[in-house]
Amino acid sequence: MARSVLVTGGNRGIGLAIARELSAAGDAVAVTYRSGEPPEGLFGVRCDVTRAADVDAAFEKAEAEHGPVEVVVANAGITKDTLLPMMKEETFTDVIDTNLTGAYRVAKRAVRPMLRMRRGRVILISSVVGLSGSAGQTNYAASKAGLVGFGRSLARELGSRGITVNVVAPGFVETDMTAVLDEAQQEQIRKSIPLGRQAHAEEIARVVRFLASDDASYITGAVIPVDGGLGMGH
Ligand code: NDP
Repeated sequence: MARSVLVTGGNRGIGLAIARELSAAGDAVAVTYRSGEPPEGLFGVRCDVTRAADVDAAFEKAEAEHGPVEVVVANAGITKDTLLPMMKEETFTDVIDTNLTGAYRVAKRAVRPMLRMRRGRVILISSVVGLSGSAGQTNYAASKAGLVGFGRSLARELGSRGITVNVVAPGFVETDMTAVLDEAQQEQIRKSIPLGRQAHAEEIARVVRFLASDDASYITGAVIPVDGGLGMGH
């Protein structure tokens, strides 16, 4: 039977690439979308990860359609960049609430059925800047660094139950999130990447597919960089 998978923020960008990759590998994938329409050919459930009730409802719909969720990918995320002296408190807390507390809500809801099944995969999408830092992104980098501590703690809680928890740290990926940067900023980032280019979302998705697969059965608490060498040494 196909595994039941849930990907948050799966309507575009990296999340959509992950959903398509896992679906092509034979999984029964549910994607959450906050706005717009669900992507064609995938089972969509509306969910804002800042609301626990939405998260619960999304899981209930995914469970009713595909059975208990065995693989959860906490991917939904936002940026609200500005230098610290100009950063309003809500600009800080909004990003934490979506990226970090959102992942907490999703993982918490996912874990109980996984404990009953004694198997499961939790995959958290962090970022290279959670490790290296990034000027203008104190809120975002804090949220992404938080995912590392969160994921590693959860890996320790769940290891004896056959559930793995891993963190993927992408570098600079071609999506709407990075399209807002002007050409000069993009060029500057590209220059600092040993591979000299942005990642395609599919390159992140393939690593997630591996972490979700049986081949990754002995990997937990890992932070896997998929960044073209950008964060080397962190
Ligand atoms: P996009 O901006 O293209 O997509 C973000 C996704 O997250 C959308 O599906 C969006 O839904 C969803 N989302 C945002 N806020 C919420 C919310 N409150 N509840 C539910 N869904 C929400 O981003 P990317 O695909 O580039 O990024 C995906 C993840 O990868 C993020 O966590 C990001 O931080 C991380 N990442 C991205 C990098 C990059 O270079 N692009 C690099 C490193 C990490 P909606 O369509 O409704 O807005």
